[in-house]
Amino acid sequence: MKKEVILIALGGNAIKQADEKGTAEEQFRNVRETCKHLLEIVKRGYGLVITHGNGPQVGNLLIQQEEGVSKVPAQPLDVLGAMTQGQIGYMLQQTLINYLQREGINIPVATIVTQVLVREDDPDFQDPHKPVGPFYTLEEAEELKKERNYFIRKVKPAGERVYRRVVPSPDPIRPIEGEAIKRLVNAGVIVIASGGGGIPVVSQKDGSLKGVEAVIDKDLAGERLAEVVKPDIFLILTDVEKAKLNYGKPNEKDIDTMSIEEAKKYLEEGHFLAGSMGPKVKACIRFLEFGGKKAIITSLNKAVDALDGKTGTLIYKNK
Ligand code: ADP
Ligand code: MG
Repeated sequence: MKKEVILIALGGNAIKQADEKGTAEEQFRNVRETCKHLLEIVKRGYGLVITHGNGPQVGNLLIQQEEGVSKVPAQPLDVLGAMTQGQIGYMLQQTLINYLQREGINIPVATIVTQVLVREDDPDFQDPHKPVGPFYTLEEAEELKKERNYFIRKVKPAGERVYRRVVPSPDPIRPIEGEAIKRLVNAGVIVIASGGGGIPVVSQKDGSLKGVEAVIDKDLAGERLAEVVKPDIFLILTDVEKAKLNYGKPNEKDIDTMSIEEAKKYLEEGHFLAGSMGPKVKACIRFLEFGGKKAIITSLNKAVDALDGKTGTLIYKNK
């Protein structure tokens, strides 16, 4: 029988915890914990495609660009995206390779630097809202607006450093390297791809690709990769065991299962916050509507239990 394939979207906590600075040691420690769970899934006989976020890593790189600008030129956001794909991909692939080797499991692992096509006329380019990088004072913010043409927004109601650069977060269309990734997966390779939502690129008049200053949501980009690879299961691993109704309110309630219709209704009613659970549920709906069979949202340490149907939020298609 053909191996079932799972496309896993790893949340930020899989690589960096909220209270950590982001040293290489810390990140490797988290990645080791993450890979323990991934190894269990591999041992169950599933094929894997892994995608991951890059928010904290690209944020740190942005600070390094700004602090170092008098000595080395600052790199644009698309290049930083590529850098974080290499960084996190390296950490995940090295750790996974070590674990597989220790278990005597002979499965190759590789990271693919992935570009993701977005529309040049995506409305988000006119009205960007996704905060990236450090917090600035009003003075610094004005300076950056003038010098580098940044979009800057106030992101907190009060305080001194309350301004941040905001960039567009366009809707992903398709991963450029999708076919290459699919062939590797079909050949049994564990592939790490579309990291940080992929490097956003637009197609120019002559058809050539060009990177743009934007960031793509990793769950929505992961789903577009799923449309090419066609995994049996789309598994979103984050820091909550289940998605909830009335999130954060006294009448908060775990969701064990929901149909596409229910998911759409809850999304419309505002149960899933924009920028966090919202895009996850949206990605699951897209996956199922595209023809996927099973989408699950759960936490990293419950991944195996959720695959066994014991926990997590399962989103399914109506019969
Ligand atoms: P990741 O790095 O895994 O993408 P996010 O912070 O983007 O993590 O998304 C997970 C977070 O979504 C949870 O920690 C929680 O704070 C938030 N969230 C928003 N709405 C909900 C909801 N309805 N149910 C559960 N969590 C929710
Ligand atoms: Mg997220």
